[in-house]
Amino acid sequence: MPIEVEFLGGGQEVGRLGILLKHSGSKLLFDYGMTATDPPSYPMSCPPVDILFLTHSHLDHCGMIPWLTARYDINVVSTAISREIGILLMDDSVKIGAAEGYPEPYTSKDIKIARGKFDEISFGDTVNVGKMQVVAHSAGHIPGATMYELRGRRSTLVTGDLHTLDTRLVTGARPVKCDNLIMESTYSGRNHPPRSKTEYALLKKVDEVTRRGGTALIPSFAVGRTQEILLLMKDSKYEYWLDGMGRSVNKIYQRFPEYIRSPKRLRQAINRMNEVRNFRARSRAMKADVIITTSGMLDGGPVLSYIDSLRDDPKSAILLTGYQVEGSNGRKLIETGMMDFKGVSERVQCEVMKFDFSAHAGHDELLAFAKGCSPEKIVLMHGDQREILAGDLRAEGFEVLLPKNREKFTL
Ligand SMILES: [Zn+2]
Repeated sequence: MPIEVEFLGGGQEVGRLGILLKHSGSKLLFDYGMTATDPPSYPMSCPPVDILFLTHSHLDHCGMIPWLTARYDINVVSTAISREIGILLMDDSVKIGAAEGYPEPYTSKDIKIARGKFDEISFGDTVNVGKMQVVAHSAGHIPGATMYELRGRRSTLVTGDLHTLDTRLVTGARPVKCDNLIMESTYSGRNHPPRSKTEYALLKKVDEVTRRGGTALIPSFAVGRTQEILLLMKDSKYEYWLDGMGRSVNKIYQRFPEYIRSPKRLRQAINRMNEVRNFRARSRAMKADVIITTSGMLDGGPVLSYIDSLRDDPKSAILLTGYQVEGSNGRKLIETGMMDFKGVSERVQCEVMKFDFSAHAGHDELLAFAKGCSPEKIVLMHGDQREILAGDLRAEGFEVLLPKNREKFTL
């Protein structure tokens, strides 16, 4: 029996992923997320399914789970750390939605219902669904990120977001032999500079900024990136402060040390940092060397009030550590030197730089991973430039599929 596949979102785009898979009468959904743009964008509405497998808790993978569990009585298979982070992000997205006046896809009550539906797994565990066994493997993207291997007469691997190199926070993913590979392709056509070079460049810039009497403001995504930067700062001589949602993520990460590459180092990094717990602490942080805070794309959170205070100071610097999506305040700042503050566009005088701390595999790493899995067919998803990687994979002899959202196909 072939497997029938359909993307409800996240096929030819980065974001709002939902992969519907039908096999021998069972209907499985992998991820159900939303893209947190302004306004947010959602996947197609999902028909009744038997079970949901969550790869990891970034909003574009988990953000629509409460919508699903409010309609269908199904289990959500996930690592415990992904559940806790996911609930934190969903609660936050409801708050942001209410503040911005977006129509709500679900309520706080729906999130409570969703919480009760989670079925906890660890790496190496197997879940039986109909005639299939689904095995969980580490995806190396952020702590707890999971790839799912479907074993039946033929095997299929769904990667979710993937990173194959070791970072300070997590160990990279290893290939899994399979017949069909459904792989993310965010960085198709692009490679990252070596991580050690990026780390050195960031530390060198912080050194320059502090020497000239400025403050280095490091906007970072709360989940994963903040902890990666904390681990880097731990070994430096700088006084660093943390503000925003990264603080809650730290607490959750420390509860699940089995998903952290070195729980001891993370604990040391957290113990050495200064935490902004109240308004007074914020003004103390302003005088420090380094401030790490959310949001990573400058679209909200405490980072805006820090930039507002620092923006006329050419000695200070904004050191971006994540991808700045089209339409975000961070992208605007890089391209125009201007930024929105409460709807008013203002010039920022401090230095602005961008550093590539991506948690996704680059082009060559995706290619190497696919070869290591040695599948017959490869489905590329979660990418807006998939053709480049598809070309290189075809040259290696693989059959490659590039389905669009809503396009049904079989494996
Ligand atoms: Zn992700």
